[in-house]
Amino acid sequence: MVDYVINWGRGVDSTAYLVAMLDDPKAHGVDLERTCVITMATGDEWPDSDADAEHYILPLLRDRGVRLVQLARGGQPAAAGIDVLDDSRSPERLIRRGRWSLWDEMEATGTVPQQGGVRKCSIRSKADVGDRWVKPATGGRPFRQMIGFNADEIGRSERDLRENKNPLRTGVYPLIEWGWGRQKCEDFLLERLGVRWKKSYCTFCCFPVSMGAMAAHLDRMRAFPDIAGRVLRLEYTAMRLNPNARLFGRHSLLEKFDPARSEDGPVLEAFAQELASCPWAVYHLRRLLPPSTNDPAAPGEWLRSVRRLRTGRPADLARTVERVGARIGARLEYEELFGSVRAWKRERGQALPVTEEFLVSAPAFAADKEKDVFPKKWARYTGVASTLQLTIKS
Ligand code: SF4
Repeated sequence: MVDYVINWGRGVDSTAYLVAMLDDPKAHGVDLERTCVITMATGDEWPDSDADAEHYILPLLRDRGVRLVQLARGGQPAAAGIDVLDDSRSPERLIRRGRWSLWDEMEATGTVPQQGGVRKCSIRSKADVGDRWVKPATGGRPFRQMIGFNADEIGRSERDLRENKNPLRTGVYPLIEWGWGRQKCEDFLLERLGVRWKKSYCTFCCFPVSMGAMAAHLDRMRAFPDIAGRVLRLEYTAMRLNPNARLFGRHSLLEKFDPARSEDGPVLEAFAQELASCPWAVYHLRRLLPPSTNDPAAPGEWLRSVRRLRTGRPADLARTVERVGARIGARLEYEELFGSVRAWKRERGQALPVTEEFLVSAPAFAADKEKDVFPKKWARYTGVASTLQLTIKS
């Protein structure tokens, strides 16, 4: 029976708690037989974080026979359920991903994680997955759930308490009770394990800026240039499909690397290699921000239509966009580094409804996407009943 669940995010805070508690479970009021550690695989954790977790923490769990359950979301829709990747009292390794990962979602939608507001990606790939496992595992009985908020994050623990909708769950925040802030957790792990514990997050996360950790993030990218190249390709694709889709709001990841700096060379080479070796396509993009149905002066919700018109070699596709763009009277815009071309048929204005439409050559990872309501709304707000008529000949 499980009545104590420990959410191990593998970062500094939850790891510090886990290690301190495992050193003397009884002193912390923990019965390991009735305890379960859960961890969620997002699919894109940094390899050095996984390696440290496997090297330093899994042996502690094995020695004490603690149950570790590794979970992942089963697919994009909630109906896809969750995957139990491993459930063991002697875990040998961490499993990096399940059937679905956030990366798959970002590539298929041609987007990057959004800064600001609620971290929907984290809720979908971590919090929601854990909640769905906990419910049956605790068998309808009351349980405690440890969340590794540190003493500098009292606001987050208060929000967790406020938003708890499960009357059987009691959230516990031992690091706050102990007065352990981030620095204390780092110092403890360094002293206890002899390692400076690294931040745990997805390689393509947009939050290193708000965590004040951009310099360390870029160093990590330089240490793993292949990963950096893929993340740059993800951002590049998103920005070709939406010029505002930079990873860090007003700043892109790409602009953080300087071709004149020798240590940035491998990252930029890996990025160029990614773009040279991946499939490319011509996309037709339309975006619409209609007025709100309740208040015509206020914006409603963005709608988007993405259609892949043809695939091919980047240079050929760029010529196609030029040719079709000239034919339909679009403004041509050239991306100098890798030769992508955008042909603006309709450029975004300020007033509602906001509309934009263009053709662009870009890496071919985004899938076609258009909500059922889009054609009707587009026709209503643009007066154009049909889509841009394109005849693209080989
Ligand atoms: S680490 Fe970043 S990208 Fe990954 S789930 Fe959390 S907020 Fe989203």
